Order: sequence, then structure tokens, then C-alpha cells
Amino acid sequence: MKVVILVGGVGGARFLLGVKQALGLPATGSAPESPHEVTALVNTGDDVWMHGLRICPDLDTCMYTLGGGIDEERGWGHSGETWTVKEELAAYGAEPTWFGLGDKDIATHLIRSRMLRAGYPLSQVTEALCDRWQPGVRLLPMSDDRVETHVVIDDPEDPDQRKAIHFQEWWVRYRAEPKAHSIIAVGADEAKPAPGVLDAIAAADIVLFAPSNPVVSVGTTLGVPGIRDALRKTRAKVVGVSPIIGGKALRGMADACLSAIGVETSAEAVGRHYGSRKESDGVLDGWLVSEGETVDVPGVAVRDVPLLMSDVDATAAMVRAAFDLAGVSVD
Ligand code: GDP
Ligand code: CA
Repeated sequence: MKVVILVGGVGGARFLLGVKQALGLPATGSAPESPHEVTALVNTGDDVWMHGLRICPDLDTCMYTLGGGIDEERGWGHSGETWTVKEELAAYGAEPTWFGLGDKDIATHLIRSRMLRAGYPLSQVTEALCDRWQPGVRLLPMSDDRVETHVVIDDPEDPDQRKAIHFQEWWVRYRAEPKAHSIIAVGADEAKPAPGVLDAIAAADIVLFAPSNPVVSVGTTLGVPGIRDALRKTRAKVVGVSPIIGGKALRGMADACLSAIGVETSAEAVGRHYGSRKESDGVLDGWLVSEGETVDVPGVAVRDVPLLMSDVDATAAMVRAAFDLAGVSVD
């Protein structure tokens, strides 16, 4: 079975662990003899240059999580990190100080940045990094082109003015506190899907949306020209999983992103925002919402199941429910 999943960082990576288990793939490492093929289309809108290094938070979170190297507690970066370089940079007063990379993590970033400067596209760089981590899933950046999410806020220095800051600054430095007037994916209009993205969607037996941030993870990927069309045309069923449970985003600040685009924080509103493939612009055939919620999304098959990714077993059960809703079976 060929499974394609649109993912962001932490929520996406956890969901991918469940996909692997549901397909009988080992948690870490690859299984070359498996008949199943999993392709994750990873958001790169969070990417940014800092200290001369190209930072790809969602790609790295997926790669480290599936490769067994994630720091479970933080949810990002390497386990067993040390922070010597960060401390040295701070001693120089080097900006930005609000963003930290651990010493081990810096090695990943040195390799990525060197390869990008040598002219390799991000998709090939990612493949090279995954050669070490063996995530057991093909991790494809949504695009090799530079697309960066920016957030328009009131200028803290001049309340009469607005200014756009990088999503990372808003999210990590300001904890998404300044109200977002709008969210813009800079460069998206000219971006092309990375090689393999459209083919994977066309050849899929099922496409899933992880319960990732609908605006700045899945939404950014949907904004790369060509991807929405490919999802509307594929013969596979497209099933999304709600990141909103009981009107709340879990472990995150997704509600601040949803308000910026005028979508209510509810499973129903997010499902309607994605929309039915039977309507002009929609992308969903199925929508999984949390057990006990009554949700209506016109033209979409909605099912309520437990949606807490409390452990891999629970997540795999969600994935099986998505397969079931799409009418595909694993063997
Ligand atoms: P990020 O890129 O690291 O912010 O992560 P993602 O965009 O992949 O995922 C963040 C989203 O995951 C948030 O909007 C949460 O609501 C959602 N989320 C986190 N944990 C769970 C869970 O256990 N179940 C569900 N359904 N959603 C979750
Ligand atoms: Ca992210």
C-alpha cells in the first residue's frame, strides 16, 4: 500500500509513528522487505536562516523522531544534547538569542547548510541526512524553493504601524502572543512542489492529513501551487485527522493561527475550511473527529474516534480508523 501523509513537526511526527505501526513497520529504522511505502510531505514554511545555518524544524522533528534520536521531553532536537555553542554565541551577544540549537543538532545543520550552498536542493539534502537516521518513511519537503511563513502583528515600537515577522520569531520568541492580523507564506506563489511530491500523490492508495496545524503546517503545504490540484485529482481517498479536540488545540497555539485566518477553533470549522473534494476547492473525502463530537462537514464522511496520540498504539488505532473510513485495507 502507498500512503502519503501531509505533516508538520511534532504532531506530524507522532502521527507518522502510528502510521508505521499500523502498517507493521518497525518504529525506527527501515524495512526494505515491506510491501508498504510511506511518503511524508513535510511543511517547510517554518524554515529560516540563523547564524548562517538553514533551520528546518519540521523536517528535523520528523527525521529525529522516526530515526530514534528525538529529545522526547522537548519534542524537538537531539536527545542527550549539550549547549556549549549556544552559550558561546550568547557570550558574544550574537542575535538571535531566543533560538537555540544544541551542539549535536548543529552538526545536522552544518551538513545541510554546506550542501545547500554547494547547490543541492533541499529534497536531496534531506535524503542524504536520512541516510544516517533511516526514518523508514520517505521524507519529502513540500518544496525545494524557499517559502517562509510570516506573521503580521502590531509593531511593538509603533502601535500605529504593523509589521511582518518570521513565524519562528512569533511562535518561539513571542509564544504567539501578539495578535496575528494575517499569516503569509512568502514565496509560495512562485514555489514548485519538490520532485516526487505530485507523483506520490497521484500514485497513492490513500492520502492522510496528520492532525498538524491546519494553517502553518498542512495549510502551507496546500498553498504550494499544484499540490491542492493533485489532491483533488488523485484516485486515492483523502482523509484528515482533526488537531482540535473539544474546541481546543492540543499542546500548542494553533488557535492563534486559526483566528488569524478567520476560522473558529473547532473540528467542524477546520473540516469545513479544508472542504469536500466534491466542492470547488476542497480536499477531503473523510474527516476524523474526537469521540463523542457531532460534526457536520457537507460532502465529507465524518467519523468520531479517540484522537489522543497518548502512545503509539492509540495513534495506530487512529490511523486504522482513517484507513477504514477510506475503505482501504492493509493486507
Ligand atoms: P509543529 O509543526 O511542531 O507545531 O507540529 P504540527 O503542526 O505537526 O502539529 C501541531 C498540532 O498537533 C497542534 O495543532 C495540536 O492541536 C495537534 N496535536 C498535538 N497532539 C495531538 C493529539 O494527541 N491528538 C490530536 N488529534 N492532535 C494533536
Ligand atoms: Ca512546524
